Amino acid sequence: MSVAIPMPSREPAPGTGPTPGSSGPLRAAIGGVPFEHEELVVRRGPRSGCSAVVAVHSTALGPALGGLRLWRYPATIDGARDALRLARGMTLKAAAAGLDLGGGKGVICAPAGFVASGEQRRAMLLDFGDLVESLEGRYITAEDVGTCPQDMVTIAQRTEHVTGLPPEHGGSGDPSPFTALGVEAALRACVRERFGARELAGLLVVVVGLGHVGEQLARRLRDAGARVLAADTLPEKRATARRLGIGWVEPEHAMLTQCDVLAPCALGGAINAANVELLRCAIVCGSANNQLSDDDLADRLAARKILYAPDYVANAGGLMHVYREVGGFGEQEAIDLALGIETTLQRVLAIAAERDTTPLRAAAELARGRLATARAARAQVRH
Ligand code: NAD
Repeated sequence: MSVAIPMPSREPAPGTGPTPGSSGPLRAAIGGVPFEHEELVVRRGPRSGCSAVVAVHSTALGPALGGLRLWRYPATIDGARDALRLARGMTLKAAAAGLDLGGGKGVICAPAGFVASGEQRRAMLLDFGDLVESLEGRYITAEDVGTCPQDMVTIAQRTEHVTGLPPEHGGSGDPSPFTALGVEAALRACVRERFGARELAGLLVVVVGLGHVGEQLARRLRDAGARVLAADTLPEKRATARRLGIGWVEPEHAMLTQCDVLAPCALGGAINAANVELLRCAIVCGSANNQLSDDDLADRLAARKILYAPDYVANAGGLMHVYREVGGFGEQEAIDLALGIETTLQRVLAIAAERDTTPLRAAAELARGRLATARAARAQVRH
């Protein structure tokens, strides 16, 4: 059964909003999403009894690739909204990155109190695999919040349209080092624009979130000669910072630390109405998705002369790595693509300067330009 759900109200920024499943106000926070997508499929899994959702925003540039989020939602419609919102963000991300991929997202709506293990989890994943298979390659799945490479192995029992498998199953493995490589490349473009220099040596960078990407990024920046401070809400990450030979700042002070570069590498919404006027950095460039709690904050950052590297441009290295599995190319090509983020961001910043707009709007313009060209070419083929 395919269901189009009317989405009447204001659209949140691509990829913004809270991490789902965390609290009561989720439904209000996700809000409405306009149905500008090619396809929305909602299906109750025959094995699990749980709702599975796939939103395909666009296939203009290629198959819609986007991760599978397994999470507890108040109701199926909330999961569907999340999928629609995230799928749209994936379209922009792939288009801005210059990849021949569209944007899509999968969601499994878990029951309240669900403990993600055992036969029930397997049943959900197999149901989702059947749903993906029914889309005949228009959507390709991968891991996302709540799922892991091993889950992709289960899904692969039902469909070949799955990426992010562990290397021993022919997959590309952990994308985090490639995401960090891309963020570092993005940072070089920012530093050139803001300080007229290419070198990262001597810069003071605060990495907020010393997780998979944050740790890799901190190591790379340290090696490039930057002075790095890290923060994480997990106290044990202090030992990670010590091991890396970098400094530490308490997480409650991290965002407002005076520095050259603030690198949000934790959760979304790190920059919000409460702290945007208080930031004491020249550049914001990190890996976190949805760094701005609201797109309008990009204007506030610009007014404060803080250069913001649009998150979906800076953090596309991980997607490029997964793209290997679709494109069938090797690791070196993925590295080259991630390094190319420097040039992409340079273009974005040039467009922003030329049009006197924010890098965020310039990135969307770049992405939409690619999409419009692809759609026009497709329309011509049809006639
Ligand atoms: P992760 O879960 O491994 O790391 C996140 C870290 O942030 C954790 O150590 C966590 O304790 C810490 N953290 C959470 N809240 C914090 C806070 N308020 N202050 C300081 N630290 C806090 O996640 P990850 O894979 O490293 O991803 C980090 C971000 O980058 C996420 O937003 C993710 O969506 C985005 N991203 C990741 C990839 C990738 O390749 N992993 C690709 C693109 C985007």
